[in-house]
Amino acid sequence: MYIRQLQEPIERLRGVGKQLAESYHNLGVNSTGDLLLLAPRTYEDRSKLVPLGKLGDGEYANTVVEVLSHSYFGGKGKRTLKVTIKDISDEGDGKAALLCFGRNFLERVLRIGSQFYLYGVFQRNFHELQSSQFEMLPLKPDGSMPGDFGKLLPIYPLSGSLSQRIVRRDVSAVLASHLATFSEELPPRMIERYGLLSMNDAVRALHQPTSLEEARGATRSFAFIELFYLLLMNRRKNSSPTVQGRAHACKLSVLQRRFIASLPFSLTEDQETVLREICTDLDDEISMNRLLQGDVGSGKTLIAWLSALHVIQSGGQVAFMAPTELLARQHAEQAASWLGPLGVRLAFLTGSVTGKSRKLLLEALGEGRIDIIIGTHALFSPEVTFSALKYIIIDEQHRFGVVQRVSLLEKGRAPDVLMMTATPIPRTLALTVFGDLNISTIRSMPAGRLPVITYLVSNESRQRMYAAVGVEFSRDHQAYFVYPRIDDQGESSLRDVESMFKLLTTSMYPGIPAALIHSRLPEEEKVDILTKFRKRELKFLVSTSVVEVGIDIPNATCMVIEHAERFGLSALHQLRGRVGRSDLQSYCFLVYESQLGEDAKKRLMVMKESNDGFHIAEQDLLIRGPGEVAGTRQSGFLKLRFASLTEDIGQIESIRNEIDMILASDPGLVDLGNAVIRDVLINAPPFDETAMES
Ligand code: ADP
Ligand code: MG
Repeated sequence: MYIRQLQEPIERLRGVGKQLAESYHNLGVNSTGDLLLLAPRTYEDRSKLVPLGKLGDGEYANTVVEVLSHSYFGGKGKRTLKVTIKDISDEGDGKAALLCFGRNFLERVLRIGSQFYLYGVFQRNFHELQSSQFEMLPLKPDGSMPGDFGKLLPIYPLSGSLSQRIVRRDVSAVLASHLATFSEELPPRMIERYGLLSMNDAVRALHQPTSLEEARGATRSFAFIELFYLLLMNRRKNSSPTVQGRAHACKLSVLQRRFIASLPFSLTEDQETVLREICTDLDDEISMNRLLQGDVGSGKTLIAWLSALHVIQSGGQVAFMAPTELLARQHAEQAASWLGPLGVRLAFLTGSVTGKSRKLLLEALGEGRIDIIIGTHALFSPEVTFSALKYIIIDEQHRFGVVQRVSLLEKGRAPDVLMMTATPIPRTLALTVFGDLNISTIRSMPAGRLPVITYLVSNESRQRMYAAVGVEFSRDHQAYFVYPRIDDQGESSLRDVESMFKLLTTSMYPGIPAALIHSRLPEEEKVDILTKFRKRELKFLVSTSVVEVGIDIPNATCMVIEHAERFGLSALHQLRGRVGRSDLQSYCFLVYESQLGEDAKKRLMVMKESNDGFHIAEQDLLIRGPGEVAGTRQSGFLKLRFASLTEDIGQIESIRNEIDMILASDPGLVDLGNAVIRDVLINAPPFDETAMES
C-alpha cells in the first residue's frame, strides 16, 4: 500500500475528537496517511546529557535536578512562582531558577527535595540562570530516566488544540499499526542511485530517528518523492507553454453565454483572455494542466465556474476543491445562485456531510446525476467515485500537499486540471519547477475597484484608527480585526483575541454587533457567524487568521491587522485582499509593536507602498532571500513539505530525466496526459526494474 492510500479519517484515531480533528485539518492532515506525511519542523536532541553548569545563554539543558526552594515575585494578583533547582546528574553542578508564568500550580508538583528530569532553554539574567520554557518529568520509581530522555524528539508544526505530545502519540499509534507495510513510491533504481531510504525505513526514521543523520536521510528521501510527483504532475507532453494570446479557436458554449448574460457586470479583458485559454485547452485532446494566477479579488472563481460550464455542456463532471470547509461552503452557495438557474446539478461534500444524505449524494455522483461537486479534501476519500470526472479545479492550490493532489487525479481518466492561486510564482522558479506547466494570468482588477489605502499604525497611535473605523461603521460598512493565528503558545494568544474582543465591544464600539471567530470554534459556529456577517447582522469580526483565505464579503471596507510584524508578506497581502472587493474605498491598518526588526520594517513598508501581488511576491523573495530554506517551504506558491526549492534544485534535473526514462519505457503511457500519473503510481509497471530494462 502507498502511504497516501492510507485514507482512514484522522478522527477515527483513539483520543482524536472533533476539536483535535479540526486542528489537524488546519495543518492539512485529514487522514492517517497525511499524518505520516507531516514533516517535523525540526528535532530536539535529548540524547546527550547537558548539565546546568555548562550552559551558555539561550542553550538547552537536558539533565536531572533537585528542587531546592520556592519563592514568589511580582505584584499582587500577578504573583509568579519561582523554583530554584540544582543539578544532580553525574557530571552535574550548577543552580538555576524556573519562572512559572501562569503555572503557579507547579508549587504542588515540584516539591522541595524531589528529583526530576529537566529539559528546557535557559537565559542568563541578573547573574542567574533562568528558564520559563521547560519540561519537568518525575524520575521513575527506580530512579531511572523517564520516557523522553535519551531520544531524538520530532517537533511538529502545530495548530489549534494540538500539542507536541498529542501529535507524537498519534503518529506512534499509526506507525505501530502500519509498520513495514508501505510500498515504494520510487523506482528501486532511483532509490539505489541516490542513496535513499526505503519507504518503510524513511517513515520510521522521519518520526522516530535514532540519530540526526538518519532524520536528515528520511527528509531527503521524502523530498525526492515529493519532487518526483510534482514533476510528474506538471509534465505535459508535446505542448508549448502558451502565452496569453494563443486563445482564439475556442467558441463559448451556450451555457457559458447564458451565464455571462446573467451577470450584473461584464468580464474584464484578462478574464476573457484566460477563459479562452482554458477552454482551448479543455477542447484539446491532451489533458490540461494549467495554473491560473491572479491577485486576490481579481475574479478567478468566476472563471472557474465559467470554464466548468464548458465541460458540463458536453456531459462531463467537474470537481471543485477548496482548502477549508468555510470556503467550500461559500463557493457552493455562490455556485448554487449562479449556476443553479442554468439547470446545472450541484452537490456539496465535506466531512460534515454524513449519514443518509452522504450516501444518496455519493450514489448520484457515481451515476452521473451530479454535474459539479464542490467540497474539501473529502473529495479525496476512496468512497467518492465519479461516472465521468473530466475536470478538476483546485482553489488555493498551494494549500494542498503534492502527494494529496495525486489522489484526486486518480479518480478520473486523464482529467483536465486547473489550479488557482493568488500567490504568483516568481518566474525563475516557474521555469525550473513548472517548466511543463501552462500558466494563465489575470493582471487587471474588475472595473471600478479602488486600491486599498494602507496605514501603518504604531501601538501608541491606535486611537485615531479606532475613530476611522468608527466612521466606516456609521456608513454601514463592515470591518475585520485580525490577530496572529493561535499557535504553539496557544492559550496566551487566544486570551489576546478575547480581551481585544472585550475592549472593542465594550469601550470602543458599544452597541455595535460583533463576533469573535477563531480556529477552535466548531465549524457550524464559524459558518453561522460568517452568514450573519454576510447579511450585515454583524458589523465586525475579531478573529485569528481564519479569514485569511478566500472569504468574499464586498461590503467589508476595513482590515485591521494586529501584530502585523508577525505576519509574512503573503499572509498580509491575502488578509488585505479581504477588503477592496467592491467599488467602495477600503482601508487596511497594520498595527505594529514599536520594537521592529529590520525585515519586519521592510515588509510593512512594502505593504504600505504596493497593492500589487506580483510586486509583493518578488519583494518577499528579496527580503527573505532565496537561500532561506524554511521561507521557501512556507512561501505561498508551493506547499512543499520536504523538498526545498533552493537546496534540492540540483536534483530537479536528474529527477526529470528519470521520469523521461520511465515514460520512454512505455510509449503508450505518454499520450495519456495525466493518466500517466495514474498508471505510473497505481499500476506501477515502470517501478518494476525488469519492466524498465525491457
Ligand atoms: P479571487 O478568487 O480571484 O480572489 P473572486 O473570484 O472571489 O476573486 O472575485 C472577487 C469578487 O469580484 C467577487 O465578489 C466576484 O463576484 C467579483 N467579480 C468577479 N469578476 C468581476 C467583474 N468582471 N466585474 C465585477 N466584479 C467581478
Ligand atoms: Mg478565491
